[in-house]
Amino acid sequence: MTINNIQSKLSTRIQTVEGSKTARFIPLLDALKRQGRPVISLAIGEPIDDTPAPVIDATKRALDRRETRYGDMAGLTALRAALAGRFEGCGPENIVVFNGSKQALYTIFQCICDPGDQVIIPVPCWVSFAEQVKLAGGDPVFVRTKADHQLDLEGITAAVGAKTKAILINSPNNPTGAVYPRPALERIARLAVEHDLVVIADEAYDFFVYDNLPRFSLYELEAVRERLILTRSFSKHYAMTGFRVGYALAPTVVAAAMVRLQSHLTGNVCTFAQHGAVAALAMDDGLLVRRREDLQRRRNLAFDKVSAMFPCIRPQGAFYLFPDVSGHLHRGETSGDFAARILEKTGVAIVPGEDFGKDGHVRICFAAPDDQLLDAFRRIREVL
Ligand code: GLU
Repeated sequence: MTINNIQSKLSTRIQTVEGSKTARFIPLLDALKRQGRPVISLAIGEPIDDTPAPVIDATKRALDRRETRYGDMAGLTALRAALAGRFEGCGPENIVVFNGSKQALYTIFQCICDPGDQVIIPVPCWVSFAEQVKLAGGDPVFVRTKADHQLDLEGITAAVGAKTKAILINSPNNPTGAVYPRPALERIARLAVEHDLVVIADEAYDFFVYDNLPRFSLYELEAVRERLILTRSFSKHYAMTGFRVGYALAPTVVAAAMVRLQSHLTGNVCTFAQHGAVAALAMDDGLLVRRREDLQRRRNLAFDKVSAMFPCIRPQGAFYLFPDVSGHLHRGETSGDFAARILEKTGVAIVPGEDFGKDGHVRICFAAPDDQLLDAFRRIREVL
């Protein structure tokens, strides 16, 4: 017996979910490079620096010791203890290690959303949030940020309704680079307490804050901790994207629920990769701080070049610029068409703003070598 339309056998859920619009660039750019196209990628958000030597060495040593077996599904005890030690009042039972904070976020929505539950998400926002909420049966509710990319606190307040389950805050922000100041986060915390909401803080870029601005985490607000689920990643901070190690910090019952799901999904995160993460936490900050200073210099360089072509808000964190390219769109052209035109004509890959819920913009990753940044902006300028 043959199935005549295997497509129809796919669940509605998977048929309606869109693939990651950022991650799709990884195979796309690999294919272009294999074809010999001189591509400059300012698309995917990834540090350019090597994974630090102590992390590589610790991972190799773990392999030599044959740390290649199943491990605790919540994560290595040593890793959870080291992470918990960085957050006042937090114990290993509050930490769950995931295959990157992407999986942590996916798991959070699975654990908190019932069908029809709403999650408020400021937009523009990272491409996976809305799809992850939908995959959990929830409904994303988008609230536009203001022209300076800061939170529209009135808009968020007005969006809270009977079905609101959570508010998601991503600071430093992907794709805008905005860093939300303490008073804005305090307002979010108060709103959550008042309406009994969960707060999800995606802090994947917490280390990447420039201009000596304070790095303020929602975790510092004690009043919100009992309802806060925070995610961070080793990917960006320690240049470990391929290791796939991130984590969530959550109240004990939420952490336990996430481990229950993990027990049916992946079990533990790669054991020897977690040993690398333990070594990352033990590192002296010096190298990473120097890398951040270098990124700030690149931010300045990229911002100068980009703002000479397009209106652009200066990002205070993460490693993205999010310029307004609407003045350069051809008649009827979307930011997706624009990014495709730039890729076709210049070989420079950038991500359309519409993928983050804001047309007329593009996301440009400035974590790239100086010569590539300069070459990319020269090529784009020529096309414009
Ligand atoms: N988070 C990075 C980005 O936005 C990596 C790709 C992804 O996982 O979305 O480019």
